Amino acid sequence: MNSTARPSTSLWMTCLMLIHCLTFVPACVGDTHDPTRQAERDRMVNEQIVPRGIKDQAVLAAMRRIPRHKFVSSFYSAFAYHDGPVPIGHGQTISQPYVVALMTDALALQGAKKVLEIGTGSGYQAAVLAEIVPNVFTIEIVEPLATEAAQTLAELGYRNIYTRVGDGYQGWPEEAPFDAIIVTASSEHVPQPLLDQLAVGGRLIIPVGNAFQEAQELVLYRRTTDGYERTRLSLVRFVPLIHKDQSTQPGER
Ligand code: SAH
Repeated sequence: MNSTARPSTSLWMTCLMLIHCLTFVPACVGDTHDPTRQAERDRMVNEQIVPRGIKDQAVLAAMRRIPRHKFVSSFYSAFAYHDGPVPIGHGQTISQPYVVALMTDALALQGAKKVLEIGTGSGYQAAVLAEIVPNVFTIEIVEPLATEAAQTLAELGYRNIYTRVGDGYQGWPEEAPFDAIIVTASSEHVPQPLLDQLAVGGRLIIPVGNAFQEAQELVLYRRTTDGYERTRLSLVRFVPLIHKDQSTQPGER
């Protein structure tokens, strides 16, 4: 369980990570000697993801390939492959590798052409999607995060990811319908514009619940010809989806 953390949790996590790094400096430094960090990535997939039941080979291959350490700051680089979320600034986090795998797997992306992500964050989840589908559209509300993610993705050579700064609650109507939609921030309800922008047969995954609760429920929607099928998957912990109608601003949570 868990994916992202609130600022207070991030601060606590930073302290824990510092203690961990000071205590296990040889391990931290040793792991980063190989600049490609392929062995760490393979270990991440083999030890954190496969044993928890993720079988989609496309997801596993993408996560073996993508240099996750390029999506975190050098300060947190040693923790890029650890089994948990990592702070990326502005009170946000890159999700735990297993949660990225779980959500991507649940979207059943075989044959999908267009995917929409709400909450670009570091850009890592978008990269995972872009390894699997031809076109990825991703929206981030915190402008500096969006800019940094776009730069990282361009440096890594992704040409099939389209980024936008704005409120993802409204989706990306000009590009709809989408074969899949992934929301990587929690909401008390599923934004209706996103349900509307899902293609028939498409899937939408979102953590639903009050962001001030300890955990939210990961919910999968599948659009049918006459409505939506809803499946509850597991408990997770995400930062809240910021909605313009709400008074809370980024950084205040
Ligand atoms: N998918 C990201 C992690 C997401 S963290 C990754 O792979 O790194 C959740 C992100 O959602 C944060 O960056 C936050 O700023 C963003 N967010 C929150 N509310 C949003 C909204 N209404 N529209 C778009 N992005 C939003």
